[in-house]
Amino acid sequence: MSPSILDNALGAVGNTPLIRLDKIAAREGLQLGKLEYTSAGGSVKDRIAKRMVEVAERDGLLKPGHSVVIEPTSGNTGIGLAMACAVKGYSVIITMPNKMSLEKEAALRALGAEVVRTPTEAAWDSPESHIGVAQRLQKEIPGGIILDQYRNVNNPLAHEFTTGPEIVEAVLGTPSTPSKPSSGKVDVLAAGAGTGGTITGLSRAIKKSHNPKAIIVGVDPVGSILALPDSLNVEGAGSQYIVEGIGYDFVPDVLSRETGIVDHWIKSTDEESFEAVRHLMRSEGLLVGGSSGSSLSGVLRWLKSKEGRTIAQTKGANVVVLLPDGIRNYMSKPWFLKMALEAEPSPLAKQISSILQPS
Ligand code: PMP
Repeated sequence: MSPSILDNALGAVGNTPLIRLDKIAAREGLQLGKLEYTSAGGSVKDRIAKRMVEVAERDGLLKPGHSVVIEPTSGNTGIGLAMACAVKGYSVIITMPNKMSLEKEAALRALGAEVVRTPTEAAWDSPESHIGVAQRLQKEIPGGIILDQYRNVNNPLAHEFTTGPEIVEAVLGTPSTPSKPSSGKVDVLAAGAGTGGTITGLSRAIKKSHNPKAIIVGVDPVGSILALPDSLNVEGAGSQYIVEGIGYDFVPDVLSRETGIVDHWIKSTDEESFEAVRHLMRSEGLLVGGSSGSSLSGVLRWLKSKEGRTIAQTKGANVVVLLPDGIRNYMSKPWFLKMALEAEPSPLAKQISSILQPS
């Protein structure tokens, strides 16, 4: 694409790079990462925010000077909405569980949104949850509108029309060479699920109009109930997890559970997610957030299964993992600070100490 001047921040949503993960590929059979933190608001959810706002405007549901956009979110959809509403001049209220990072709240407030925190442990259908509080506010606030990422068809459609085609076009546009062999198609796509809009839209985009035989791997944290079969969700049922943005205690309407949308579900743990984040930073130079680690560790586990091993051993198979956001959303989180600042001193660090503080 030739450089051009964008009209506003929304022009810098999406169009994210698909990047070779060579060091991981050499050992594990996973080739490509779709890096969503390069989107203007810093996550994959910018895409749905932009689409939900634009369609609501087109349908006359959003009225300048009157509408107040209210949305329950784990933060990233909120940031996308606050960005869109800053550009377009709507007021925004974001309801968000306490566990979500201070960085997200700060970004939201900086974009002009009001933020209401809710108890993390509140069940989704209780009046205290982020969803319940948003509904209570909408009833009372004139012009209040919930675009509702859990039910809005424009959530999966944003991925069916943008994220998915971008992946397919990048794969189709990269010729196979002896040093970088390619099957010429997307063979496996792995992504985590929160609302499920990303994985549902990606699956439709890839299977309907590109490769009906592509394998879609969904990743769901232990403690959440999105995975199928349901028996996968029994271990650790109801337990809390630290990773943000994936997993729920209900199945959102936009997560399609039709056969053939998600072919395999893998449960992820915080520990392996954070280890995978470290791996992506240290070996690939990618400053990704926690749920990117969940998706990576999940698909690497799947690649060790019987079906996965066949793919991992096929030269040129294109295995893609979606990396939803970046570490700058989580810099104050204890899990990250521990990883970044409390690591064992490296030989180089010891050398520096001995030079600067000779004993
Ligand atoms: N990772 C992060 C960091 C997110 O914010 C979200 C959105 N909740 C997801 C993954 C999952 O995306 P989706 O809601 O489309 O399933």
